[in-house]
Amino acid sequence: MSSKSPITFSVVGREGEARAGILTTRRGLIETPVFMPVGTAGTVKATRFEALEEELDARIILGNTYHLWLRPGVDVIRACGGLHRFIGWPRALLTDSGGFQVWSLGALRKITEEGTEFRSHVDGSLRFLSPEVSMEVQAGLGSDIVMAFDECAPGKATHAQARASLELTARWARRSRGKFDELQREGRDTGFLEKVEQQVSGAQALFGIVQGAGHRDLRRESLQRTMEIGFDGYAIGGLSVGEEKSVMWEMVDEVAPLMPTESPRYLMGVGTPEDLIEAVARGVDMFDCVLPTRNGRTGQAFTSRGKLNVKNSQWAEDRRPLDESCPCSVCQRHSRAYLRHLHQTGEMLAGILLTHHNLAFFLDTMRRVRQAIRSGDFPKFRREFIERLSESGE
Ligand SMILES: [Zn+2]
Repeated sequence: MSSKSPITFSVVGREGEARAGILTTRRGLIETPVFMPVGTAGTVKATRFEALEEELDARIILGNTYHLWLRPGVDVIRACGGLHRFIGWPRALLTDSGGFQVWSLGALRKITEEGTEFRSHVDGSLRFLSPEVSMEVQAGLGSDIVMAFDECAPGKATHAQARASLELTARWARRSRGKFDELQREGRDTGFLEKVEQQVSGAQALFGIVQGAGHRDLRRESLQRTMEIGFDGYAIGGLSVGEEKSVMWEMVDEVAPLMPTESPRYLMGVGTPEDLIEAVARGVDMFDCVLPTRNGRTGQAFTSRGKLNVKNSQWAEDRRPLDESCPCSVCQRHSRAYLRHLHQTGEMLAGILLTHHNLAFFLDTMRRVRQAIRSGDFPKFRREFIERLSESGE
């Protein structure tokens, strides 16, 4: 095993807590802050990979361990050469641990020290997910960034509940680290690259996750204990799960400045365009969220002037694009009137086009954020961006 790191991260621009960086993975460079489109079951829904790669220039997408493990199963993906080959995506992939999806099953799961037992939403069979199983599945998928298996406390968890969850997460983080290292030594990572151009090792990277619900002292302690184990990057988990928005920002304010400056920081499952800007201002580098894809399929567009619902009858004869300042191919070609018609008639193209525009808007926003930080204009950009979002009045 090489002594080189699986990823490198360097900060190339900074303004207040906000930072612009370059994350080098075994499958290419990623400029940060970055938004990662979510490819739940091996597909960023309603989006072709050509569009993701060429038009949208997404550098990294996310895959869900829980969904892929249940269907088609890790054996199938391993037999097909790993997740990159299976889905036809040559760029970087991050996989979550499955912990959050299983946690979201609520009454259908049982958490013990060993792991989580649950009923599959696919066929009702009894399944068991643990740090070891999650690491094995993620090695089989061969993603470039692997997430540690954690336990998420509810957003409004009491101090005692959040403390117990944090302790379990710390023990699971250690088990994740141990199993991950063992799998790397055994060569079980199906995505291993023998030859990489940059100074990285070709192996998978492992990120740790900070928990602690809405309690500042616990967030600090969770970070400390996660850093003691040592990971290639650090994520803030368990936010945007039912707590007040003000609590989320309080937690990010508390923890982000204490995270290692030389490692990427990832805020999991967040959020709206304004959330991304606000989190970047607090020092976060990486994001994922289903909003642009999920809302695209239900007729909601994100624009520079706020949300736009294509169902609205006011667009019936409107020849303007979704967003007059959007350079995406959908906005160059189609009117609100046409998109509304597609949606009203249940045409699948409606979801495809809206998803494309939404992803373009999220990715383009992050591109502009990076430029603003590098040129020292981020505070102005932030103010103007947030002001403009409230203009649509929807
Ligand atoms: Zn557009």
